[in-house]
Amino acid sequence: MTGQTTRTTCPYCGVGCGVAASVDDAGTVAVTGDEGHPSNRGRLCSKGTALADTVGLADRLLHPRVDGHRADWNSALDRVAGGFAEIIAEHGPDAVAFYVSGQLLTEDYYVANKLMKGYIGSANIDTNSRLCMSSAVAGHKRAFGEDAVPGCYDDLEIADLVVLVGSNLAWCHPVVYQRLMAAREPDPKKTLVVIDPRRTATADSADLHLPIAPGSDVALFNGLLAYLAGQGITSELPGADAAIEAAQRMGDAASVAQAVGVDIDDLAKFFTWFAATERAVTVFSQGVNQSSAGTDKVNAIINCHLLTDRIGKPGACPFSITGQPNAMGGREVGGLASTLAAHMGFDRADTVQRFWGSPTIARKPGLKAVELFEAIEAGRIKAIWIMATNPVVSLPDADRARRALAACPLVVVSDVMRHTDTVDCADVLLPAAAWAEKSGTVTNSERMISRQRAFLPLPGEARADWRIISEVARRMGFGDDFAYESAADIFREHAALTAFENNGERVLDLGALASITDAEYETLSPIRWPLSSPEAMRAAGAMPARADADRLFTDDAYPHADGRAHLVPVAPRGPANRPSTSRPLALNTGRVRDHWHTMTRTAKSERLAAHIAEPFVEIHPEDAQTHAIVDGRLATVTTDWGQVTMRAVVTDRQRQGSLFAPIHWNRQFASAARVGAAANPAVCPIAGEPEFKHTPASIAPY
Ligand code: SF4
Repeated sequence: MTGQTTRTTCPYCGVGCGVAASVDDAGTVAVTGDEGHPSNRGRLCSKGTALADTVGLADRLLHPRVDGHRADWNSALDRVAGGFAEIIAEHGPDAVAFYVSGQLLTEDYYVANKLMKGYIGSANIDTNSRLCMSSAVAGHKRAFGEDAVPGCYDDLEIADLVVLVGSNLAWCHPVVYQRLMAAREPDPKKTLVVIDPRRTATADSADLHLPIAPGSDVALFNGLLAYLAGQGITSELPGADAAIEAAQRMGDAASVAQAVGVDIDDLAKFFTWFAATERAVTVFSQGVNQSSAGTDKVNAIINCHLLTDRIGKPGACPFSITGQPNAMGGREVGGLASTLAAHMGFDRADTVQRFWGSPTIARKPGLKAVELFEAIEAGRIKAIWIMATNPVVSLPDADRARRALAACPLVVVSDVMRHTDTVDCADVLLPAAAWAEKSGTVTNSERMISRQRAFLPLPGEARADWRIISEVARRMGFGDDFAYESAADIFREHAALTAFENNGERVLDLGALASITDAEYETLSPIRWPLSSPEAMRAAGAMPARADADRLFTDDAYPHADGRAHLVPVAPRGPANRPSTSRPLALNTGRVRDHWHTMTRTAKSERLAAHIAEPFVEIHPEDAQTHAIVDGRLATVTTDWGQVTMRAVVTDRQRQGSLFAPIHWNRQFASAARVGAAANPAVCPIAGEPEFKHTPASIAPY
């Protein structure tokens, strides 16, 4: 592939930017933004620009390993298949589990989900996407009947009012932020409201920043809903009256301002702007989702858009922006324990089993991420296969994940790295293909399916994840149904399943792609679902989306059985674990601009590492004084779950009573700052998403 340019997709965030990559004769990789990709139109952020720095083989896992020794593929795969089969035979299918990742490609995810749900017969497959956007999934299902993001990035440019809730877009989805800023520049009337307890880089560019009290999002949006109803706005939609009634229990504006902890004039300004602006987009991200009330927060936001009919129109929608490059693709193929495949619930188990012709089918939801690791620790799960993720760093109460893996009879890890906190817990290690070496598709936050394409050879004995999973399936006796020869084979099957027994009642329908040829798959341009017919696509000589596919629900038809959207009555409730005398502060965790996940890739780039060189904890000046914390010195944060030590940053950008620490650092880079070990494991009871944004904590000088 030397000298050629390969069009692929960035492996980091849910923006899903198109990348043009090339390799010269000396093997040097160069990366630029793909001008032809509709999601980024040539733009890249600092992480995307530095991708070429991260493709080296330092600390790569290049060969299978069993019990700490290098092994050949046959013995490693036999050990996995035999180990899983033995445990299933003795303890049943629910005694095994897969824990997968938004770093997998859709085809990898599809095969893993098929093996677990249709052939092993358990729904114990969950994904690290559970940690970032499962509240949005659950909220979408309650409101629309299916997990679907109604809008697209263009809507942020078209809107007259953009509201960012719990989203540091400038750092976490930088190219969408760049697009938003570029659209605002010639049109100062375009208004930006940022709702976030922290004064982030994004808040700096807002017309209005509402630094709400942690966890008060439902109170805020219920207050807005009541205000809108008070302006005479009504709706015939199911749930509207009950949602308004629940919202009105918040009381008057002064009560709402007090509950939310913001200035009443600022609150009034936000309510007035929202009420007066037809073209309004509300973007929400982990600040909303990562909460024990995450699903209710999502529905509180969507309620305001449904009441005002601001959905399915240019520049008007609620918009969940996802954390990972393929969080949406994983959702589409059933990578969550709470769905089956193709956005179908367990009520459609027969449909999925008929399509696969599988020997069995999971008929009830499996264990979600946090409960899955609890089940491992309790001995109910006896074999776990972890793919492309590092739960010993990223899960809340992460030391529990380490203890659980230490006690688990069989731990299989597929990864690209030779050492991570999780890899070091494995009995069987399987070398997987990395970005630049693997091929398949991903779906970004705006429903855009894009190809990831290989432009580097597979190093050592590394293999694509779908090949590894299919090999294990064959060894477990399911060979005929996993005889894939290419990622394209899997993609066609996935597309066909979305259309199978789908009489137009499900919006995820990729049936038009079920018969694409290998050559068409190879050259597939980015395409947003829903899709046009295959005939129309071929006639156009390309793969265009349906004319109206930029946004969903333009015709007010929803996947709910009654065909309508539903407002959901919600009541505010605080975080699951509240601050106390001994733990008086609320620890909030999140990302920084130039690092990604557990730094296995971004730490390889000197320019990325230079942005923020070490882990830190932000604290408000008055809290710093109370707890004798000095700016620039080390401080130890203690919670009921763990302890971390980081450099203190004393700043009034942090709301009083709160701390902020980044999630990235871990044993390889700064062992004392593995912040997941201190995060509380409370989850949203509906979505199972952990409450990373609020753990009661104390702080002291180190
Ligand atoms: Fe990659 Fe996200 Fe940056 Fe785009 S915005 S280049 S997808 S990290």
